[in-house]
Amino acid sequence: MTDKTGTKSSADISALATRMEAQVESSFSGSDGNSTWTTDAVISTGNAPSNGEHEINIQPSSFFSAPGVLGNVDKIGGNQININDSISSLTPTSTNSNASFERTAAHEVGHAAGLRHGSGGLMEQTRNSNSLEINKSQIKDIVENN
Ligand SMILES: [Zn+2]
Repeated sequence: MTDKTGTKSSADISALATRMEAQVESSFSGSDGNSTWTTDAVISTGNAPSNGEHEINIQPSSFFSAPGVLGNVDKIGGNQININDSISSLTPTSTNSNASFERTAAHEVGHAAGLRHGSGGLMEQTRNSNSLEINKSQIKDIVENN
């Protein structure tokens, strides 16, 4: 994970990486019937990504094409994930009706894993953080596409 805002300390970035790891592991682990799936996320800081690794950038709002965009990927199935620094301090709330760093980070990982927007769950295009999990069919899509 890299700070592209020029404003974060290495401790700030490490804290964001830890939050993202925890949410990705939670969002991409689950069960349905006889199927279970787990994910181990490792997000390093301070190093350029090696071949095959994803690049995760904390970007200033000015990076994005439109105001209010929370994050994006270079392409579906791509290697570059961008997250808007404006939501770095936002965590999923008790009402979960607001944007959060955790939800956006995990959502963009879904895009990087080849998932498109869907109805409900983590891959719904919404600012709400009330849907943090992917489902069995999306896990199947990831396995078959990677
Ligand atoms: Zn999306």
